[in-house]
Amino acid sequence: MKDCIFCKIVNGEIPSMKVYEDDLCMAYLDINPDTDGHTLIIPKEHYEDIYELPKDVLEHIFNVSKNLMNDLKNKLKCSGYTLMINYGSSQEVKHFHLHVKPQYKDKKFVEFIKHKELLKDINEVHKIIKEA
Ligand code: AMP
Ligand code: ZN
Repeated sequence: MKDCIFCKIVNGEIPSMKVYEDDLCMAYLDINPDTDGHTLIIPKEHYEDIYELPKDVLEHIFNVSKNLMNDLKNKLKCSGYTLMINYGSSQEVKHFHLHVKPQYKDKKFVEFIKHKELLKDINEVHKIIKEA
């Protein structure tokens, strides 16, 4: 869809830190991460929200999220995850996306807010995920 930032990512018109791709979906790091490795999984086709998204694509995205979580667990040494879907006034980008947020046992969320300011370069996290 024209003027959709996530469609532009799918088409390669704007860059992303891609960590996974298949025929139906792709996953890339969130540009403003809440935790290290915060990833978004999106359908390649434009569906505005959870209500528009076909059931089989949703199921596929959830299966991909489970594989991705295993991968992130090995590479980033996280201890858990939060999966999140925003809708309506909570949804900033109107192209469906599933947030996958790795969590780390000894770090509370507030530390990540501080950490975010200190996070020099999310490229570093991307490098770990892609190369480990
Ligand atoms: P929401 O629509 O509220 O669920 O969240 C949209 C998410 O997309 C936010 O966490 C943003 O940081 C993220 N985001 C916006 N633009 C980009 C981009 N170009 N690349 C990666 N993540 C993005
Ligand atoms: Zn779109």
